[in-house]
Amino acid sequence: MIDINEVYSDIKPFGFVLKNASMKDFTTFKTGGTADLMIYPSDCQNAAEVVKYANQKKIPLTVIGGGSNLLIGDKGIRGIVVRMAEDDRMKGSIKELEPGRMYADAIVKKRDFIEYAANRGYSDVEFMVGIPGCIGGGVIMNAGTFMGNFIGILDKISYISNDGNVNEMNAHAGMDNYRGLRLSDAGIIWGAEFTFSKMKKPEEIFGMINEIKADRLKKHPQEPSAGSVFKNPEGFASWKLVNDSGLRGKSVGGAMVSDLHTNFIINTGNATSKDVRSLIELVQEKVLSAFGVTLSTEVRMIGEF
Ligand SMILES: Cc1cc2nc3c(=O)[nH]c(=O)nc-3n(C[C@H](O)[C@H](O)[C@H](O)COP(=O)(O)OP(=O)(O)OC[C@H]3O[C@@H](n4cnc5c(N)ncnc54)[C@H](O)[C@@H]3O)c2cc1C
Repeated sequence: MIDINEVYSDIKPFGFVLKNASMKDFTTFKTGGTADLMIYPSDCQNAAEVVKYANQKKIPLTVIGGGSNLLIGDKGIRGIVVRMAEDDRMKGSIKELEPGRMYADAIVKKRDFIEYAANRGYSDVEFMVGIPGCIGGGVIMNAGTFMGNFIGILDKISYISNDGNVNEMNAHAGMDNYRGLRLSDAGIIWGAEFTFSKMKKPEEIFGMINEIKADRLKKHPQEPSAGSVFKNPEGFASWKLVNDSGLRGKSVGGAMVSDLHTNFIINTGNATSKDVRSLIELVQEKVLSAFGVTLSTEVRMIGEF
């Protein structure tokens, strides 16, 4: 157990700090308990100080972005949560470094990044349309769709290592992985540089963006969720395995396998994280017994359940 007030005073110089922050307010599932302390670091150096402080005091440190791929336990998160997402308390920056190259802070929302790139004629960002959350979370998850993913445009990452040093690394093909880049030692992503090669007129890109948005609106549930729950196992589509196991609309408490897209679990209003996790486990058991296929989760579960 940590002394929340003491840690609050110690880390306050490094950014804006909330005590007992309700994770329901910081995840798209709208579930989860409280984090002892949550900090928005005021800059990269201060983020590094938080990492060093947590190491020195042996306090657990958790990083979250927009919270759109997270299931946080109902008993919350002990220690310090570093929130790497833009909101009224913190604004990120996007820059065009030179033609064909852009930098964005990790806290920048993907949708702002897309708009900035599209206005400059870079159509390589179309794959990101409709994926919620921020740039840092996109990098960590190697987020994407059939149209592409982060590693396809990623050039360089600035980050704070697990021992609190500020570093840079070049992106390379060896990092490529399905829904999660291989990034050793990158505790907090601070910013990322991207290279673009596909140019179109901005109005054409915005036209495509609107088409993708409309298509996703038809296919994806709008209730609180964290997107696709399961990774697609080699040679299978998870939604089909779930559907063919008879689980469309199956619910546990307030959590339900979406009628619209069976790889989504939605919060119908008063779900707890335990409901969601129990439903995930039930789906895994049924799919394994029906098809002999193990479903692993794309959604990341953190905190105490
Ligand atoms: C409706 C809906 C649709 C979705 N559609 C898609 C889709 O089409 N394709 C897809 O790939 N995903 C999709 N997702 C999942 C999710 O939006 C992506 O994985 C997204 O990139 C997560 O970004 P985030 O900022 O919300 O990260 P979070 O969910 O907050 O975090 C995800 C992981 O990244 C880590 N992390 C976040 N920021 C940082 C940072 N700065 N430094 C270090 N670690 C960090 C966290 O610790 C965690 O492990 C969808 C989700 C929803 C709710």
